Amino acid sequence: MGCLFCEIINGKIPCYKVYEDADVFAFLDINPTMPGHTLVLPKKHCSGLLDVDVETLSKIMTAAQKITAAIQKALGSSGFNIIQNNGVPAGQVIEHLHFHIIPRNESDGLKHWPGKPYSGDMAADIANKIQQKLEIGNW
Ligand SMILES: [Zn+2]
Repeated sequence: MGCLFCEIINGKIPCYKVYEDADVFAFLDINPTMPGHTLVLPKKHCSGLLDVDVETLSKIMTAAQKITAAIQKALGSSGFNIIQNNGVPAGQVIEHLHFHIIPRNESDGLKHWPGKPYSGDMAADIANKIQQKLEIGNW
């Protein structure tokens, strides 16, 4: 089965494109959380954040910064969220790495997800486990 986003990048499916360079493509989300909600993605297919090369990731984020500034100026939004979902449990629908840029305003009514405080030694234990996995050659 083909990848929907690869087909959009290749022009086989229409979109409202806002940006394109040699490596990065961006277009309006067809079902926006807010007007101006934009998807930024690499032209070459990769499924998520853990299988993109660092050079491409850097190009995506550099473009995302530029596009976000343009969205802010174009729409007069006073804030923004950048969201990147990985895997079905996290809400990823299309398995082609993409970052959501969502323009925000003071009165837009969107809320962040609720927090759940740690109890006991849980935070220290989790931080320790993550640090161990980040040691050189361990991830
Ligand atoms: Zn793809």
